[in-house]
Amino acid sequence: MSNIYDVVIIGGGPAGLSAGLYAARANMKTLILEKERAGGQIVTTEEVANYPGSIEHATGPSLVARMVEQADEFGVERKLDEVVELNLENKIKVIKGEKADYHTKSVIIATGAKPRLLGVPGEKEFTGKGVSYCATCDGAFFEELPVYVIGGGDSAVEEAIFLTKFARKVTIVHRRDELRAAKSIQEKAFKNDKIDFIWNSEIKELRGEGILEAMTLVNRETGEETEILADEEDGTFGVFVFVGYTPQTKLFEGIVDMEKGYIKTDDNMKTNIEGLFAAGDCRVKSLRQVVTATADGAIAAVQAEKYVDNNFEE
Ligand code: NAP
Repeated sequence: MSNIYDVVIIGGGPAGLSAGLYAARANMKTLILEKERAGGQIVTTEEVANYPGSIEHATGPSLVARMVEQADEFGVERKLDEVVELNLENKIKVIKGEKADYHTKSVIIATGAKPRLLGVPGEKEFTGKGVSYCATCDGAFFEELPVYVIGGGDSAVEEAIFLTKFARKVTIVHRRDELRAAKSIQEKAFKNDKIDFIWNSEIKELRGEGILEAMTLVNRETGEETEILADEEDGTFGVFVFVGYTPQTKLFEGIVDMEKGYIKTDDNMKTNIEGLFAAGDCRVKSLRQVVTATADGAIAAVQAEKYVDNNFEE
């Protein structure tokens, strides 16, 4: 039985790493499967000022690096493999990855969410060539260039403030005439001389020859269109998109109960399937933050342990 895991956790962001830590500390044979790299979305965040205890203004990557180290210390096994199929019908569940199959007594889904796209012409073509979804990753490429940030939520405004470290000017383009971001974050942006705003506007189209050189904005109130062209000496400008997130749950459609693409659980992170739990941003919940993701992970692991204890003989 030694090749059967007590719990397989799909996703290695804060929810998955926290679940891994709790499960391994409870002596469960624990595997975290991650498709690209450990960390999840928080790796793309420069400052994590609201995770309790991170008073030295930990960055996303540094916080995750410590979570990984801690999970590893307790004996969590971690593998890079993309899950392509799940067979949950039998008591021993089978997770099929691209590289191998994994047999397990319980499963925790912690696949998180990914940035929502605008869905406008040119967006995909110019991703990585002017269009970005991660200021921490790409901000430095726009040193002394103009940058446009799309969105009005906490992410958009916080990342706009961060981008002023690099960009010559940052313009927040928002589809309404007031921001959604928390007032404290808004105030910082309004005080920042390098930040401008274009209200009631959306991108209609992004254009260029191999690199982003132009975009058309449309005013939602008047229908008026504005052309933004790169300065000749700049050659390009940046567009950073922060318009929310979509859950990474396509794989589980038709398998587990969901609501608007998010997995439904009870307070104990239990889904409608015995032995299947969900934690973090991929589940239906009211607040998607690192602190709630890690809390979910802990609860899911403790419940998975109870499930395994009650349903499998030693
Ligand atoms: P969000 O709160 O959902 O905001 C998305 C923003 O994008 C909104 O301003 C929305 O406009 C706009 N938007 C949505 N679709 C659009 C489209 N197709 N075109 C143009 N604009 C569009 O997302 P978020 O800012 O990423 O935050 C997600 C969650 O993480 C929130 O709960 C947030 O509080 C949290 N968060 C917290 C912090 C922090 O506490 N420090 C930092 C980052 C994120 P409307 O306003 O018109 O809907």
